[in-house]
Amino acid sequence: MLGLMQNQPLLISSLIDFAERHHGDGEIVSRRVEGDIHRYHWRDVAVRARRVANALDALKLQFSDRVATLAWNGYRHLELYFGVSGSGRVLHTLNPRLHPEQIAWIANHAEDQVLCFDLSFLPIIQAVHAKCTTVKHWIALCDADKLPKNSGIPGLQSYEAWIGAQSEKYRWPEFDENSASSMCYTSGTTGNPKAALYSHRSTILHAYAAALPDVMCLSARDSVLPVVPMFHVNAWGIPYSAALTGAKLVFPGPALDGKSIYELIEAERVTYAAGVPTIWQMLLGHMKPGGLKFSTLKRTVIGGSACPPAMITAFREEYGVEVLHAWGMTEMSPLGTLCTLKNKHLTMPESEQMKIRLKQGRAIYGMDMKIVGGDGQELPWDGKAYGDLLVRGPWILREYFKGEGGNPLVQDGWFPTGDVATIDPDGYMQITDRSKDVIKSGGEWISSIEVENIAVAHPAVAMAACIGMRHPKWDERPVVVVVKKAGAEVTREELLKFYEGKTAKWQIPDDVIFVESIPLGATGKMLKARLRETLKDYRLPGT
Ligand code: AMP
Repeated sequence: MLGLMQNQPLLISSLIDFAERHHGDGEIVSRRVEGDIHRYHWRDVAVRARRVANALDALKLQFSDRVATLAWNGYRHLELYFGVSGSGRVLHTLNPRLHPEQIAWIANHAEDQVLCFDLSFLPIIQAVHAKCTTVKHWIALCDADKLPKNSGIPGLQSYEAWIGAQSEKYRWPEFDENSASSMCYTSGTTGNPKAALYSHRSTILHAYAAALPDVMCLSARDSVLPVVPMFHVNAWGIPYSAALTGAKLVFPGPALDGKSIYELIEAERVTYAAGVPTIWQMLLGHMKPGGLKFSTLKRTVIGGSACPPAMITAFREEYGVEVLHAWGMTEMSPLGTLCTLKNKHLTMPESEQMKIRLKQGRAIYGMDMKIVGGDGQELPWDGKAYGDLLVRGPWILREYFKGEGGNPLVQDGWFPTGDVATIDPDGYMQITDRSKDVIKSGGEWISSIEVENIAVAHPAVAMAACIGMRHPKWDERPVVVVVKKAGAEVTREELLKFYEGKTAKWQIPDDVIFVESIPLGATGKMLKARLRETLKDYRLPGT
């Protein structure tokens, strides 16, 4: 017997309809590429998203055709999120931090038909447009009078003229909720990037889950600053969850420096902000010298890379801001776990609580996880055993776009994350490494994240990467590659001494290598493969 409830498909258009109807006067504030602040409301997003849908119809775009964006976080990008997917096309967010050649490769692989870009990315488009063979329409996200003359890009139109010519009336189509809605390519640190193709259903379920109290805890009373880019896994789904809750959205545009972010947080009374550790490092770096404080910020979600303990402490103790450590990946829409404490942990001493806060957190309903050993057998949840982390659920990838890389699933539909983790008896997962970054010393594993966390807790260290180096006896030994803070000093010996008492003796790195900078990938993650490459002639002391 089937249930007798209405079978309404879960479609992205329903989010913008809801936001317009119930939170029409909720604000959307954007720092624009032009440098000024733009301000309007959810009802305006809805009207203009419908104009986008009509504009795509006018171009005769078919169901599931790809519409690409190369854009910062801002209101026009938000309108495309709803207008493109709502009308049945697939929103493809391109990452401008990739090499232009790679952007062209990805646009061709996705078979993008339309490409909408912020004017700050005009040089990239000028460099690659001739190579993007499937793109028929180029749209600059600007006013008609800002459209560059003689850009060399055939048929270039301004977004405002493009959608301005369209009616604001549009009836969102109804279709199968499993239809593709958006796509995002993985960072591709090895080989060609592969795309996760999200569906309307997966996006809505993820948006519900992300808004839950023990996840992002979003509400109509929040003012939300997604610093995490809309071109990287849909800004962790925040645009959708904000529409679902009626939260105010504040977009930073291209200005991601500490000063600009701080000013936006204060001016727009931001209560909640989300981003990767490097962004918060810049923010705290700006605030500390001037003794600045937050007047409204309550929570930050930090993910994408392990959050250094020093950052959690600074936010909590110096600024009264709760840090929620989160973990996920492009293939997971992206949220998997979030670290909020259970009641029984709140009575623990602060130092014990801190050990839990450093973990990547508990599973969000909808995402199941387990760890397995080399033999594929499930390992115990004792907080000690570590193994490959596998996940499954309705917003987790089944296969990559166009079947790239074959079937990634293992063991009855579990997706291998490529991360190595422990899970404790309370269900808190802790990433110890990427499987390829883990350091194997004398048959034991050393967590590179742990070694890095200790280094960055030193007041003179800005950034640290721990990598394994060949050792004749131990197979591999850790060395820590360090970037010093501007004007700060620390010697190799001082830093190695700093490790004493903080970790087991055999886990202390064998050497410290000081460098000017550590290579970062397009999503802000340290590129350890490239770092290893630059150190290929390095030899461990005494070998
Ligand atoms: P991406 O698909 O680019 O978002 O990268 C996903 C990968 O980033 C994960 O598989 C992890 O290796 C890493 N990652 C994400 N969040 C965290 C975190 N909180 N701590 C450690 N690693 C993380």
